[in-house]
Amino acid sequence: MTFADLGLSDELLRAVTESGYDEPTPIQRQAIPSVLMNRDLIGIAQTGTGKTASFVLPMIDILAQGRSRARMPRSLILEPTRELAAQVAENFEKYGKYHKLSMALLIGGVSMGDQMAALEKGVDVLIATPGRLMDLFGRGKILLTGCNLLVIDEADRMLDMGFIPDIEEICTKLPANRQTLLFSATMPPPIKKLADKFLSNPKTIEVSRPASSNALIDQRLLKVDARKKKDALRDRLRSDEVKTAIVFCNRKTTVRELATSLKRAGFRAGQIHGDMEQAERIRELDRFKAEEINILIASDVAARGLDIKGVSHVFNFDVPWHPDDYVHRIGRTGRAGRTGVAITLATPDDAEAVAAIQKLTGLAIPAFDGPALGGPTATEADTAASPPAAKGEPRERKPRGGRGRAKSDAPPEKAVQSHLPEEPSRKAERKPRPAPERRHRSETPEQEEEGWNGPIPSFLAQKVGD
Ligand code: AMP
Repeated sequence: MTFADLGLSDELLRAVTESGYDEPTPIQRQAIPSVLMNRDLIGIAQTGTGKTASFVLPMIDILAQGRSRARMPRSLILEPTRELAAQVAENFEKYGKYHKLSMALLIGGVSMGDQMAALEKGVDVLIATPGRLMDLFGRGKILLTGCNLLVIDEADRMLDMGFIPDIEEICTKLPANRQTLLFSATMPPPIKKLADKFLSNPKTIEVSRPASSNALIDQRLLKVDARKKKDALRDRLRSDEVKTAIVFCNRKTTVRELATSLKRAGFRAGQIHGDMEQAERIRELDRFKAEEINILIASDVAARGLDIKGVSHVFNFDVPWHPDDYVHRIGRTGRAGRTGVAITLATPDDAEAVAAIQKLTGLAIPAFDGPALGGPTATEADTAASPPAAKGEPRERKPRGGRGRAKSDAPPEKAVQSHLPEEPSRKAERKPRPAPERRHRSETPEQEEEGWNGPIPSFLAQKVGD
C-alpha cells in the first residue's frame, strides 16, 4: 500500500514524498482513512511507530477546508510535555508546507504574549500542554466551541502526570459532536474510562510496542560495581561504535554530575533535565541534533517521544525504577529502520528493577558480552510459558506515583517549579523507592537469595568482575 492509496491530497503526498517516506507505517495505513472519514479513533501505539503523521496528515486535509476565527481554534492537540508539543508542531510544518494552515503552540516556559497574539489572529491548529491551555482558558483567552477535532496524545503519560482531570474538563468545553482521536501506548483503566466517556464509537487500532519487540535494538546488560559505574560508562563511550548516545539517569543531580564529569574527561557531552529552562533544553537538543555534542545525558524528561535520528546508543546509567520507562528510553535508538544498541548498567542492587523490565518485555536482556542473565534468552523466552522474570517475581511494588494521582499530590519539586507546569519528570525524578533492606550485601549466593522473595536473577549470584 502506498500513501496515495490512503486518500490524501496531492499537496500532502508531495510533502510526504519530500519527507523521504516510501510507504505508510501500519498505524498510518489503518488510521488515516478512518480519520479522513471523521471517525473517532483509539490508537494504541508508541512513538517510533509513525503515529504523529497518522493524525497530522489527515488533520491537514480536513482543516484545508474552512477558515479560522479569532480566539477559536479549529482543532486541538494535547501533548503531555513541551518537547512533544514542539515536535508535533514541527511535523505540522513539515507536512503542511503546501497548505496555508495557521498553528499556535501553547506550552509552558515560553512567553505567553506571542501565544496570545497568535490565538487572537485565529488558528487552525492549537497544540498545547494541558497546564498552559487551562491557564489561558481561565483568563478567557480561548474559546473551544469551534474546535471540532481533538487529539489526546500520549494519554498514559498524561495519566502519569496527573493531567486526566484537566483533560476531562477540556473535553467538556469542546462541541459534543467533535471528532476525537486518542493515542496511548497502553490502556490502563482510567484511560479506558476516559475513552468510553469522551469518544463515540471509536475504531481501535493497536500496533506493537516497537521498543520491546524491536529487533533493531541490541539490548545488553552490563554488570557493574556501583562505585565503578562512571568508569564503566566512560569505557563504553570510548568504544569505536558509539557515535551518538543518550545516557539516561534517574535523578537530575546525577545528570548534572555525570555531564560535568564527562566533559572534564574530554567528552563532547551535554545535558537535558527538568530543572533547565525551556530555551536551554532546546539549545542542548539542537546541539545534539547538529552533532556539536555527541553525548546527551538525560533524565526521563527526554525519554518519551523525542525523535532524534541516528542515535546509535542508549545507555541506562541507572536502571529505571519503572519498567515502562526502560521501553521508552531504549526506543530513542533503533528508529526509522536503523539499528541501535541499548546498554543498561546494572549493579546487584538493581536486580529487582531488571527483573521487572524482563517481565514486562518478556525477554531476558543478554549480558554485555556473555549469555543472557537472569532468565532464558530471547528465543527461549518466546517459547516459555511465562516470561523469564516471573520466576524472580519482584516483591510488592509501591504503586506508580503518578497513576491517577491528583495534581495536588505532586511531589515537592512540582511546587517549587510552578513555572514549569508540564514538567514530565515528576514521577521519574522523585525519590526512589526504599532500597532493598540489605545495603551491605554478602558475597555468597546462598545468602544473596535470602534477601529476595523467590529465586534471584543469576547475575546476582556472580561476583562483580567475574
Ligand atoms: P513518531 O512515531 O510519530 O514519533 O515517528 C517516528 C519517526 O518515524 C519520525 O522520525 C518520523 O519522521 C518517521 N516516520 C513517520 N512516518 C514514516 C514513514 N511512513 N516512513 C518512514 N519514516 C516515517
